[in-house]
Amino acid sequence: MGNDAGSRCFARKMLRSCSDSRFQNLSIKGIILFAALASFSILCGCVALADKTAGSASGTSESDDKTKVIASIFAPYDLARQVGGDYAEVSMLVPPGSETHSFEPTPRDIVDLQECDVFIYVGGESDAWLDDLLSSIDTTDKRIVRLMDIVDTLEEVHIEGMQEDDEIVSDESDDEHGQDFEERRAEQDEHDSDAHGHVGEQDEHVWTSVPNAKSIVRAIADVLMETDSVHAASYDQNATDYLQQLDELDDQFREVVAQANRTTVVFGDRFPFLYLAEEYGLRYYAAFSGCSTQTEASANTIAALIERVKEEQIPVVFKIELSNHKIADTIAEQTGTQVLVLHACHNISKDDFVAGATYLSLMEQNVANLRIALN
Ligand SMILES: [Zn+2]
Repeated sequence: MGNDAGSRCFARKMLRSCSDSRFQNLSIKGIILFAALASFSILCGCVALADKTAGSASGTSESDDKTKVIASIFAPYDLARQVGGDYAEVSMLVPPGSETHSFEPTPRDIVDLQECDVFIYVGGESDAWLDDLLSSIDTTDKRIVRLMDIVDTLEEVHIEGMQEDDEIVSDESDDEHGQDFEERRAEQDEHDSDAHGHVGEQDEHVWTSVPNAKSIVRAIADVLMETDSVHAASYDQNATDYLQQLDELDDQFREVVAQANRTTVVFGDRFPFLYLAEEYGLRYYAAFSGCSTQTEASANTIAALIERVKEEQIPVVFKIELSNHKIADTIAEQTGTQVLVLHACHNISKDDFVAGATYLSLMEQNVANLRIALN
């Protein structure tokens, strides 16, 4: 564990230095050399393992023939798994149960990445380090799928009451209640460029809207069909079947919102659901934006969320997966409401992973929890 963490740290530090050091080539060579050495020792370990577990007389693994796909996080991992079916060996870079925003790759991860046929990643703020890594390895023999290139992205929104990463939110009056979302967003954009002088980041949680997930599935299917044309018909069929299930999921979200008593949701947590909210017409209030690194909310932020829950008699305070749920618990205690999970599918717990949770099963649970929260 200690060694593992140490190598992760080392690998990540090397990567970081790639982007901002003038000894860029040296750093990249260092990491590749380090990965190569790690590869050698890991390969030795793997041969020993394969000898023990090989079922066939030849001792070669069936997975050698499969198209090797690596996805950075859970959502694209599962979508690729659905399309890949029997002919792709899909793995996830971030281990189940770990926080995706602070992930540190091991040298082994880098070796795996060098050896895969298809690599799928988000392309957002929190995995920007992968851009550096990809530019430092030979990718001519692999296909790279970047989710943020597939769909129309939206700028991260910091709505009134939401705590900024670099400031404690001021105690502004919330007379903007009921204001149209577009108006609030426009004002916030103005606020961002005026007050902070930074260009808003594009929100990276693109897979939380089902139509976006469908676009991603089509893109993955195209890439697999080109990479492994022998099994193109199978990938195509898997994608067609799965897209039909996603259509049904999409209908469920639309139906829940159309039949709801309210369209406002409150998150005592980060809010990685911008695409979901925009797609299905949800208004939202949250402690932090999508990929905020903050976990401690100010008293003002919590008070504003409590007031919102009371004012609109909202029955559910949401938290997201793998969260410490402290803020959601506090709001629920103060308002006599219940805490439910809206799962953003960044990653899943080890238990859920073993139990076979999928994007579809998690999103169906989201539909059920939304139904409670909106009525
Ligand atoms: Zn995120």
